[in-house]
Amino acid sequence: MTSGSVPANWHFQPGVQPDGGPLVLLDLDGVISNATHRQYYLRGAFKDFRGFFTAATDDPPYATGLALAASISEDHTVAILTARPYYMAGGTRDWLAANRVRHDLLILRPGRGKGSRGMAADFKRHELSRLRAAGYEVAAAVDDDERIIEMYRSEGVFALYTHSGYYDR
Ligand SMILES: [Mg+2]
Repeated sequence: MTSGSVPANWHFQPGVQPDGGPLVLLDLDGVISNATHRQYYLRGAFKDFRGFFTAATDDPPYATGLALAASISEDHTVAILTARPYYMAGGTRDWLAANRVRHDLLILRPGRGKGSRGMAADFKRHELSRLRAAGYEVAAAVDDDERIIEMYRSEGVFALYTHSGYYDR
């Protein structure tokens, strides 16, 4: 893929070329980032999504999530695929840098078009298809949302579930 064809919601680390090849997908909230302190924004009749997402810059990292990202072999692209909205790109990139999270690519929900609204699983399915179309072979994916795990498995991706406790079973 040429740099001009990189989707606007894909943020590569400086110096990383979008060359394709083996890739591991990691979710952010509930896997690397501990969002427990802001779950209350989503409880009750009024769900304050903007409050929920903008508080993400205060998340502590999970040591296990940092270790997971660091453990992935260097010949794999590490892509963080999160349903955080586009307006959290700057804060999320700063957070990833401050916590030294090993990654090559960050993908958030776009501000418009397909994936900008609706179920997180549908957004992630769309980004999975775009990654594959760009020449990436998705070797594994990790998420804390069972609906997303089911989506990955339906797409033939080896998917690992981790329990954050954010979702009702
Ligand atoms: Mg999550």
